[in-house]
Amino acid sequence: MKKVTDSKKISKKNIAKLLDEWRQEFTVFVPWRDEAVAKWARWDGKDTSFLDWYRNTVVPPKAIFFPPMEEMFSFQKDREGYHLELPASDEPKQLIFGIRPCDAKALAVLNMTFSDAYEDPYYLAKRNGGVLVGLGCTNPYDSCFCTSLDSSPTDSANVDLMLTDIGDDFLVEAITDKGKALMAKTSLAEAVTRADEARAKDVKETTYAKVTKKIDTEGIKEKLLSGFDNKDLWEKIAAKCITCGICTFLCPTCYCFDINDELVKNQGERFRSWDSCAFPLYTKMPMENPRVEKWRRLRQKVCHKYVFYPMNFDVIACTGCGRCIRLCPVNWDITQTLDNLSAEAQVKMEK
Ligand code: SF4
Ligand code: SF4
Repeated sequence: MKKVTDSKKISKKNIAKLLDEWRQEFTVFVPWRDEAVAKWARWDGKDTSFLDWYRNTVVPPKAIFFPPMEEMFSFQKDREGYHLELPASDEPKQLIFGIRPCDAKALAVLNMTFSDAYEDPYYLAKRNGGVLVGLGCTNPYDSCFCTSLDSSPTDSANVDLMLTDIGDDFLVEAITDKGKALMAKTSLAEAVTRADEARAKDVKETTYAKVTKKIDTEGIKEKLLSGFDNKDLWEKIAAKCITCGICTFLCPTCYCFDINDELVKNQGERFRSWDSCAFPLYTKMPMENPRVEKWRRLRQKVCHKYVFYPMNFDVIACTGCGRCIRLCPVNWDITQTLDNLSAEAQVKMEK
């Protein structure tokens, strides 16, 4: 992504008009409450009340590019064999308004699997035409720890446009050429003053300081590897987990899926759906299941983020969004696990 920076401001009163302008070219997604669950939905052309209640969504924006369930193709069988038909791609240009920096970073992490490691046509058809309009956090959760992972609540590294709340207006930074082109088309943008820029700087510093949960990532891969075979420790760590899979389904960087066919007589559909390494059947093979025990599955979840992804892509696949802490029904906390393992590794090194 080519980086450019060009700041303007937009009045909060004009956000509906701005989204309406963008709706002429894009399918615009905004945070939405569906029976109190915050997720992403196509903007209805009116409601911008999310600007008041939105902290982060429960369902991460990966669901827009990698839906929980997605048709891969339909098929029909006749005397000549199978005939396949790909689903119509009707939404190649999607604009996500208000994505948080941690979730934009998560999409960059997903790209490493769905674009760099192999090219996933379903993901890329949506992702390549996507525009990310970031909205810096002003009220992070107690469970957020993005600042321990080379990011911040107002990090603009992975978005096209970055908005910072400066009171009655948003300061808008065009981060990429795509973002700059978007701003060039609107007449709603106004010039920023020095006072606006000073206010934005202040907001960024204040919000950074609000993220108080921390982890120590120094040597984390080595520490986890040194405790990898410590069954007793992992059993303790996994003891209260009920293997519901929420922490993986709703993790913005998890991408495992299962593939199934739905068949009625001679025709049907092949679809994929989110899967989770927390489930005992996930690794079931004809002769064995290498992760029958719960502790092995939980170890996989943690080590995939903090050991295997860094080995493959040189990046930790956890953004510190805190969802797996906030949403776990038994209050399992990945940061406590990392702390315990670090302490264990320290003891081991001192022996
Ligand atoms: S959300 Fe909690 S209980 Fe559910 S699988 Fe994850 S750690 Fe286990
Ligand atoms: S592991 Fe937890 S904190 Fe890290 S990205 Fe996934 S849901 Fe967020």
